[in-house]
Amino acid sequence: MTQRSILIIEDEADIRNLLQYNLEKDGFRTVPVASGEDGLQLVRNESPDIILLDLMLPGIDGLEMCRILKADRKTSNIPIVMLTAKGEESDIVAGLELGADDYITKPFSPKVVIARIRAVMRRRSSRPATGIEPIKIHGIEIHPGKRSVIVDGRHVDFTPTEFEIIYFLATHPGWVFTRYQIVDAIRDEVAAVTDRSVDVQIVGVRRKLGDFGDIVETVRGVGYRMKEEE
Ligand code: CA
Repeated sequence: MTQRSILIIEDEADIRNLLQYNLEKDGFRTVPVASGEDGLQLVRNESPDIILLDLMLPGIDGLEMCRILKADRKTSNIPIVMLTAKGEESDIVAGLELGADDYITKPFSPKVVIARIRAVMRRRSSRPATGIEPIKIHGIEIHPGKRSVIVDGRHVDFTPTEFEIIYFLATHPGWVFTRYQIVDAIRDEVAAVTDRSVDVQIVGVRRKLGDFGDIVETVRGVGYRMKEEE
């Protein structure tokens, strides 16, 4: 297996070194840099498998980096995991909507970082199951063809919008989506959903899932996600 490489863009030396040490110990190759400018210089030559991107950077900040990397065809496919501080929820939302894959809030343990990196790589290599095959997740079954949901062996009626939301989340377990991303994903299927009404729809989805309601997780200040199966 080829060694996976990780571009670390982080201006705080302590955090950068901690990441470098632990990722290399775990078998990754790392390219650590202290600024967005250096990151942009290296990203094309190194073509890393993943980018760990601090949001608060001097010079070009993390959000601007997301914008630049996602706008360039040569770099737009490289997954980005944002490193964020508490209270940066609005920047996290902006970053996810710019195409970042995930985020990790500081302070973090190296173990968590490695687990999240592996999860992002796993999701990238296994394409979301969409189509006609039913999805089975956490004991529920979602049948896209029949547009039906079976909870605990029992058929449950979802409204078209509720159905699209749970189907979309269930095809991307573990991914956090902002309200806007959810609206954007389902708007070809159901009209007239606003990002505010997503909250109301989620309440309906959870109620209908009954004891399974907690598989749709609220990510405070950011959005929603389907719990990843262990
Ligand atoms: Ca910083």
